[in-house]
Amino acid sequence: MKAQVLNRYDDDLSASSWVDFEDVPDPRITTPTDVIVRLGGAGVCRTDLHIIEGVWRPNMDPTGKGLLPLIMGHENAGWVEEVGSAATGFQKGDPVIVHPKITEGSLLVHRRGHDMHGPGRFPGLDSSGGGYAEAMVTSVRNIVKLPETLAPKDVAPYADAGLTAYRVVKKAVRELMPGQFCVVIGVGGLGHIGIQCLKAMSAVDIIVVARSDQSLKLAEESGADHLVKADGSEFDAVMSLTKGEGAEAVIDFVGEKGTTSLGLKMTRPLGNYYIVGYGENINIPAVDLIITEKSIIPSLVGTWAELAELMALADRGLVRLVTQEYSLKDANIALKDLNAGKVNGRAVLIA
Ligand code: ZN
Repeated sequence: MKAQVLNRYDDDLSASSWVDFEDVPDPRITTPTDVIVRLGGAGVCRTDLHIIEGVWRPNMDPTGKGLLPLIMGHENAGWVEEVGSAATGFQKGDPVIVHPKITEGSLLVHRRGHDMHGPGRFPGLDSSGGGYAEAMVTSVRNIVKLPETLAPKDVAPYADAGLTAYRVVKKAVRELMPGQFCVVIGVGGLGHIGIQCLKAMSAVDIIVVARSDQSLKLAEESGADHLVKADGSEFDAVMSLTKGEGAEAVIDFVGEKGTTSLGLKMTRPLGNYYIVGYGENINIPAVDLIITEKSIIPSLVGTWAELAELMALADRGLVRLVTQEYSLKDANIALKDLNAGKVNGRAVLIA
């Protein structure tokens, strides 16, 4: 089959191309619970750019030789192509979305549903076999059958970007009362889904902070109540909207270039600051946290059950992904566009 393969890192993202379009061996069933999925769409994630830059290298690939060549792509959906002998409940042709973390499933941590924690494998990130290809192998435990209303290419980014946005919003709305404020920082692939989830699952006033007019427009279309341009005046604007008190919840989908201190400052006493995006260190004196009793709450992807819940929201038309489609052979163009901030919503590769 054909796949886009990462063969070398590029520290400053300056190379003219990053992945190579190659013939690679077809995926094979090796354990009875394996499922081969023919890909209908693979989301292109900022994490993929971070992999190319080598940000993950100290954790995942300390020798620089262990991980490459790597087929990236962890936001995948498609159709079941072949099932192992123990993979019951699915047949060839079923449309499915793929939870990105493969776990064996019998450990307590996994039985509790915490798929992201404990041992396992994350194809496209910590090992090859991701979705920048015509097909991939996953486990029967990872796939969620899609309702008839949803096509694989239109939902693939829900597998990570959408799931991450859904999980953090689910955490936030547990504590948000009608009429309270939630600030969303950043409106890319995650932010625009997060805003829709907030709208569908709560009755809060949603204040969105973003840098570009294009992002603010997407925020408005996604259901934001107040738009604030991140041009240096955003702190004052949020404080004015919240009558000087700050927001009960701040969800930071950026996590770099100063948004962590800004987000914490916009959080009112007793409020929660949720951190999802990453890139910088969070730096706050312990005494400031104690005096204000603000909480910092991180959120990481989500569980298989949460992916199924998100599909229920999508099936009802309550969340809709904005995608920009690229052919698999144009993966470099998609990655370049993402790096240049030219993708509206989420880029999806179609094999
Ligand atoms: Zn991702």
